[in-house]
Amino acid sequence: MKVRYSPLLDQYADPDAILADIREVVLAGDFTLGKDVGEFEEQFAKATHRKFSIGVGSGTDALKIPLRALDIGHGDEVITSANTFWATVGAIAEVGATPVLVDCGDDMQLNPQQLEDALTENTKAIMPVHIAGNVARMDEITAFANEHGLHVIEDGCQSQMATRNEQMVGSWGVATAFSMHPLKYINVWGDAGMVVTDDPGMNDKVRLLRNHGLLNRDEMECFGYNSRLDTVQAVVAKHMLSTIEWIIERRRANAALYTEGFCNIQGIRLPVVDAGVDPSYLFFVLFAERRDALVEHCTAMGVETKVHYPIPLYRQKALSHLGYAAGAFPETDYQAKTCISLPVDQHLGREHVDYVIQTVRNFYGS
Ligand SMILES: *Cc1c(COP(=O)(O)O)cnc(C)c1O
Repeated sequence: MKVRYSPLLDQYADPDAILADIREVVLAGDFTLGKDVGEFEEQFAKATHRKFSIGVGSGTDALKIPLRALDIGHGDEVITSANTFWATVGAIAEVGATPVLVDCGDDMQLNPQQLEDALTENTKAIMPVHIAGNVARMDEITAFANEHGLHVIEDGCQSQMATRNEQMVGSWGVATAFSMHPLKYINVWGDAGMVVTDDPGMNDKVRLLRNHGLLNRDEMECFGYNSRLDTVQAVVAKHMLSTIEWIIERRRANAALYTEGFCNIQGIRLPVVDAGVDPSYLFFVLFAERRDALVEHCTAMGVETKVHYPIPLYRQKALSHLGYAAGAFPETDYQAKTCISLPVDQHLGREHVDYVIQTVRNFYGS
């Protein structure tokens, strides 16, 4: 049996309905901030239970623009998780601020107990990252932020629709970023991102900044970006968003099969999922002994897997100027060494999931 990692070919096997809608955009010449952008923004705000949602060019821009909206820049520090994707620290660096990393816990999320050590007089914000579909410990993070007068901007790119005590990702921060990269939940045919917020001031400022800082056609209020959500991508996104409940449900069902199939195997641990958390499973991660050999075994057996991420950010050349010593983030190092992501998406059937479980069990002789 072959089990592929990415669902893209299944997802867009029949693109005709989307292409028909794109044809309408083309025939109407409605390319820049067109009708579909506004409609998608409204639908996205509803789906994430927020008042406002603003379409931008990428998930990275959806992190960067709220930082700019809060006037965070040179000389300011933003605390985030050592266990994240490049874009989180990239966005912080791009506005001129300094990313300050803290280690993650065995749930893969930013460990709130380390916030105190990372705090300085220059700290302006915390950017908690909800990794792999799981949810960061937002009660503790929010309490810490409130106590020290810090902004919270959530990186929700990997955990759309996930909840903690029935509260959804995107509902704690002053703004939250989502990505519509082809490997995320609501994926488009290229790049796109969304900012959600309940704050009218943040909504206005993000709208201004995504479109050159223009108040209207002729008046420029401030320097901004060209980072509008493409109308063509909004058409694709609308189609995908209409199936979001099903996508998350199917991912959760597959993850439940894995969780059961992998209990009591010597050599494997699962990331902790706190009581009350309902992840949305962008990835299904295992911490595996002899990880590289397991990856090879899976490949040989026709199961495609990924490693998110083999080299932690703080060991990357791009961050060397921050001066973190090797071993500074032991939990992040441990996870980089042992993590493997299994296919878990909505288009996998039970037979695929069972085959993956059997393949992994065979490797450990169990
Ligand atoms: C994908 C991702 C982003 C950025 O998304 P792009 O749309 O690719 O710019 C940011 N943070 C995390 C954690 C991500 O996984």
